[in-house]
Amino acid sequence: MAEPSSDAPHGKRRRVNQTATAHTSSTTPGMVNAHHHLYSALARGMPAPRAEPTSFPNMLELVWWRLDAAHTLDSIYWSAKLGALEAVLAGTTCIIDHHESPNAVEGSLDAIQRACREVGVRVRTCYGITDRWADDGALRVKVSPLSTMTKGAIRGLEECEHHLRAGNDAMVGLHAAFTCSNDTIAAASDLAERHRVGVHVHVAEAIDDAAAGSRLQPFARDNWLLVHTVHLDRDLPGIIAHNPRSNMNNGVGYAKPTTRANTVVLGSDGIGSDMAEELRLAYVRLREFDSTALPDTVYGWMDNARTLFPAALKDRVTWRYPQAANPWHAVFTTGMRVERVETNDAVSGTPRTVVDRGTTVLVDEHEVRQKAAEEAKRLHERMENL
Ligand SMILES: [Zn+2]
Repeated sequence: MAEPSSDAPHGKRRRVNQTATAHTSSTTPGMVNAHHHLYSALARGMPAPRAEPTSFPNMLELVWWRLDAAHTLDSIYWSAKLGALEAVLAGTTCIIDHHESPNAVEGSLDAIQRACREVGVRVRTCYGITDRWADDGALRVKVSPLSTMTKGAIRGLEECEHHLRAGNDAMVGLHAAFTCSNDTIAAASDLAERHRVGVHVHVAEAIDDAAAGSRLQPFARDNWLLVHTVHLDRDLPGIIAHNPRSNMNNGVGYAKPTTRANTVVLGSDGIGSDMAEELRLAYVRLREFDSTALPDTVYGWMDNARTLFPAALKDRVTWRYPQAANPWHAVFTTGMRVERVETNDAVSGTPRTVVDRGTTVLVDEHEVRQKAAEEAKRLHERMENL
């Protein structure tokens, strides 16, 4: 449509409309989820655990390790697609993912990457290597540091290596020190060094992993992503991924990220990917710990995550709220909705709109939700039989 000239009869109305738009929306760069588990997007509605979990490792055993064992490549793909869809609808354009699926290891990182690209979200993947599955298929809740590397850990390491060798955006994943042997931690560290990437690892999330500091200290580097660090007993080099909602949900304690010298970034730990919401929660949890803290601190954590995943800086998120970029507004404005997301294609770099008028452009939101729900039903049935 041709623009009206300044003296056209509609000129005055147009100027009024422009002013109205400027006062009802604002833009920010893309949000980054620095620690996600896209495989958990289909977890909602899953079967209840067979017994009440009595500890953090027991909860992992009864809930999350049952879910990851039930995943197939199809369910991983649809879980990632739903997770990516919900991320971008919330203005999150870049995800650092930590994945585990012991019965569908090979090709899992490709499935996640493909699903994210189809939605228009960038992802940095890793496979979380662990020795908790013995070679006979038995689950071991705690692994001896001196045990030998399991076949499962070797397969996970090979999946990371395969994905890195293909030139994809990836890291080397470790589940956590308490489910890994020393040999496995060393092998992950070595692979990461060879590919000049960091290791993405859960660190002292609960008291049960309090030995993580001493176990990881000989290997940790500045480019490692240290997730949680709630019970970390020393300083380690690396970036801390703070996940306040998950920590509160699991009752593991507050990580006190402002008391450490490390760079801090924010993650959801698999509970969605609405990082504006995560940021607000991080702020009030921080205020509960330190009532002098200011919104700039949690905004700094999001800026750090964008530095870690710089593609987000070029993305534009249009919010249906006029002061979305103002920390003092954003931390107290609940339900701030995303109107539009413009990003660059992860492969070609071509600019494109991935969300418009609050829904996805590259994929049909309704169709993705429907197919993901069908896949979730099959996944939950498999969990019942595990
Ligand atoms: Zn996690």
